[in-house]
Amino acid sequence: MTSPQRITVVGGGIVGITTALEFQRRGYQVSLLDPKQPGRETSYGNTGVLSDGSVVISNNPGLRKRLPKLILKKSNALNYSLWFVIKRLPWVTRFLSYCTDQHLDHSSWALRALQAHSLQLHLGLISDSGADSLLRKTGWLKVFRSDTSYQAYGMELKVFEKTGVGHTKYSEEELRQLEPALNPIFRHGVLLHNACSVSSPAALCDAYLSIFIEAGGQVILGAAKKIQKSATWEVQLTDGELISSDAVVLAAGPWSAEIAKGLGYKIPMAWERAQPCKEPFMMSTRDMS
Ligand SMILES: Cc1cc2nc3c(=O)[nH]c(=O)nc-3n(C[C@H](O)[C@H](O)[C@H](O)COP(=O)(O)OP(=O)(O)OC[C@H]3O[C@@H](n4cnc5c(N)ncnc54)[C@H](O)[C@@H]3O)c2cc1C
Repeated sequence: MTSPQRITVVGGGIVGITTALEFQRRGYQVSLLDPKQPGRETSYGNTGVLSDGSVVISNNPGLRKRLPKLILKKSNALNYSLWFVIKRLPWVTRFLSYCTDQHLDHSSWALRALQAHSLQLHLGLISDSGADSLLRKTGWLKVFRSDTSYQAYGMELKVFEKTGVGHTKYSEEELRQLEPALNPIFRHGVLLHNACSVSSPAALCDAYLSIFIEAGGQVILGAAKKIQKSATWEVQLTDGELISSDAVVLAAGPWSAEIAKGLGYKIPMAWERAQPCKEPFMMSTRDMS
């Protein structure tokens, strides 16, 4: 009998944990590497929405129109450090060059396929890991105070219709009947039917991690410094230790680009809402007022 293939997953956020679980289920012997307890970075403090309808990317055609207001910080949707932007001008220019109808179309279909699949996988994992009490199957109600903000949302609605994101539109009166406790200041609402949320993203990571460990998965506390290929794949840790395996998955979230550099990859990666290094970047909220 041949021994199972060994895989090292670098990074224990929700992406690394679920990747580790999937490989384990396919019969691999998996080690999950993280400098701290898995699920304690971005995957710890997010909003916990599990959506199949977050299909419109930030750099969409509407961003061009909104750009002057955003640059002048005349909206609460964007905050940024000018120095950070200047230092990364080629990246920012490239980001904005994708604000086209063609890219919106391409990316929304890709995101829709990914999210419809990922939502179903999460629901299965939530059930397998006994984390049902964290799950809230409420849908996702987006509300709009003015006709103008609702009209601006029209692009998103068109994409929903095209890609089949289940939703219902509500008038002011219908909203009042649907959510009587809501302050009656909203003129329009859109409910995304399939979206769910979890009350604690960190607890979800813990639940997934516990079934990974119960099934024999190994968690290694350590930080990858370099990934290299010799006879096998090797992950060199910052303390000098080497971990060998047949394959490596790099899932270190915003830290991945830095680690991938050593393998010759130049990944054009940036972060929305804070970043792992020292400087402040963008703080963004959705402005639907
Ligand atoms: C405010 C906010 C709200 C959000 N809300 C939602 C939401 O509602 N729904 C949604 O789907 N998404 C949401 N997101 C996005 C979501 O949180 C991220 O997409 C997701 O957590 C990314 O997971 P990850 O595993 O890629 O990264 P992370 O969770 O950041 O995991 C990366 C891991 O890599 C580890 N690591 C770092 N360096 C090394 C190294 N050298 N060696 C080994 N490991 C290393 C880190 O310790 C960390 O544990 C939100 C994000 C933010 C910031």
